[in-house]
Amino acid sequence: MLYSQQTFLVAGLSRSGIAASEYLLSRGAKVYCFDDVEDGSVAQTARELGAKGCTVIHKEELERRSSECDILVLSPGIPVDHPLPVAFKRAGKRVIGELELGALGLHCPAVAVTGTNGKTTTVTMIDGIFKAAGKKSVACGNIGKPLSSCVRELGEDGLAVIEVSSFQLETLTSLRPHVAVVLNVTEDHLNRHYNMENYIYLKSRLLKNCAESEYAVLNYDDPIVRGFAEKTKAKPVWFSLREPVEGGYLSEGYFCYMGEKLFPAAELPLDGEHNAANALAAICAAKLFGVQNEVIASALKTFRGVAHRLQRIGELDGVSFIDDSKATNVDSAIKAVKSVRGESVLLVGGKDKGYSYEPLFDAIKNSGVVHTVIYGENAFRILGAALKKGYTAVTLCRPFDVAVRVAYLTAKKGQNVLLSPASASFDAFRSYEERGERFREMLSLLSEEKKSGGVVPPAEADIAEE
Ligand code: ADP
Repeated sequence: MLYSQQTFLVAGLSRSGIAASEYLLSRGAKVYCFDDVEDGSVAQTARELGAKGCTVIHKEELERRSSECDILVLSPGIPVDHPLPVAFKRAGKRVIGELELGALGLHCPAVAVTGTNGKTTTVTMIDGIFKAAGKKSVACGNIGKPLSSCVRELGEDGLAVIEVSSFQLETLTSLRPHVAVVLNVTEDHLNRHYNMENYIYLKSRLLKNCAESEYAVLNYDDPIVRGFAEKTKAKPVWFSLREPVEGGYLSEGYFCYMGEKLFPAAELPLDGEHNAANALAAICAAKLFGVQNEVIASALKTFRGVAHRLQRIGELDGVSFIDDSKATNVDSAIKAVKSVRGESVLLVGGKDKGYSYEPLFDAIKNSGVVHTVIYGENAFRILGAALKKGYTAVTLCRPFDVAVRVAYLTAKKGQNVLLSPASASFDAFRSYEERGERFREMLSLLSEEKKSGGVVPPAEADIAEE
């Protein structure tokens, strides 16, 4: 790409939009930037990018100024069928993402990880193992560090461990990882990708550029992912919780790789079979880069987990609070329900993403969940699914703070309050992190109330919301 002779329009000024703009400026490109939100922190970002040399475009001039641009760099938050990318494509111009820019500038080997759930956990595991092995590894991509912002740091001797989301796959064409990992494909984001076929197709795109000399680490237990072996030239390396495969598997309670025993699975300090699957995927990737078994074992045995993923955040009156705010779809909540030990009062709800909640209630019926508190914009859809499944141990209440309170009041000593929402957070929060933080704040508030013996009023925002 001849940066210095092209004009780019960067649309969407979140973290990746900022990184893309700065990267393009550093390459001598002419950069226009645009966001349809024009106040608050976005306006501040636009001003800062303006000061660095970008031309900030306002809504009313978008159409006219777009015609001056050669390439659109689209935020992963904007769908590819939005009128702006559609207009670029109609005009015969390229539409790419920030990750594509990073991939074009990458000069070192990469491991790329996709899947509906477990990406961040697995990327963090792989990065931890590589660092323990003394490699110059950087965890980047959807994990919160845009690839284009670290290609310089990675140089030729680095190792990029890239988390890739389905949104990013919509605008990614050039990434060719040495090892591509696909963890699982279950229903998610159907409000954006329309149907499972399209979502599956997008996930398979990660493997499209791989050649015979590259590897596809694939989940043998997931029939959709198993089928991906036929869609790539890369050599399949499997991982499975159920059977000894050519790759990573469990045998006699040990994590194994191609006939070698690594360490007892019980020593992985994370709950849940799904985390054992993530560890197996990480083991495969590490072995394919030649990391020694002892290094892999010691890195995984000391793995601390990632915030907001089945994280025990504290206890009140013998009731444990578990933050799994990142469970933003049904499958991840099912995994939580199945893997949390003991009895729990479950908190579910948020913004709907177009899938059915019925499988969640099938899982709940055979689990330690003794009661479910439903909140959020999709509360009635979830309630409908519960009742259809004949599950009646439910309370519906809103807003979130009240639901947390009710869950705590419902739980008995020795039980958990488990926040595993099976929904996005955007109905009431800016992100799943903010929802998890609010959960933590509610625990502190309830603890304060308990100490003072009085009732602390709910936060103002909640009163206003109702
Ligand atoms: P992602 O980055 O793909 O969203 P995370 O590692 O952040 O994945 O985990 C997201 C949610 O999914 C958490 O609730 C976590 O407990 C759950 N989870 C993690 N790994 C898996 C897996 N392999 N299968 C299903 N759910 C998982």
